[in-house]
Amino acid sequence: MMRIGHGYDVHAFGEGDGIVLGGVQIPFKLGLIAHSDGDVVLHALCDALLGAAGLGDIGRHFPDTDPAFSDTDSRTLLRAVVAQLDDAGWTVVNVDITVIAQTPRLAEHINGMRERVAADLRVAEGSVNVKATTTEKLGFVGREEGIASHAVALLKHEGASV
Ligand SMILES: [Zn+2]
Repeated sequence: MMRIGHGYDVHAFGEGDGIVLGGVQIPFKLGLIAHSDGDVVLHALCDALLGAAGLGDIGRHFPDTDPAFSDTDSRTLLRAVVAQLDDAGWTVVNVDITVIAQTPRLAEHINGMRERVAADLRVAEGSVNVKATTTEKLGFVGREEGIASHAVALLKHEGASV
């Protein structure tokens, strides 16, 4: 059987000198405010994967009140989610991610995000799509107040039912 899941995440810009998106360190005049590294791409992806598997959401598994996840590399969270999917018998078919940012420019980082996500999901890079778009200067993203990301994931399960 196959199941689809969707994830969405937003983080606001704050003081800093760089951001992490899709596991890629991107030098920037600001940072993203978060308990973890603020990687909206991986947070949306984790929620899409957990959603498809019917396993809740990232906040349930990695509470932002837990000091253990303070400044956490979100790739660690993603790998932990993949381990949970493994335990439940799910494998990833493909994922599709859209990052919504007015700034910084992300085109040159797309391939790096794809590589890292594919490695953490243990799938071919062809099974991971990452797109970046702006909002034509509309809304909070357009005012350069933060970055948002959507992700969808398709999972398959070897059993006839779950
Ligand atoms: Zn987040």
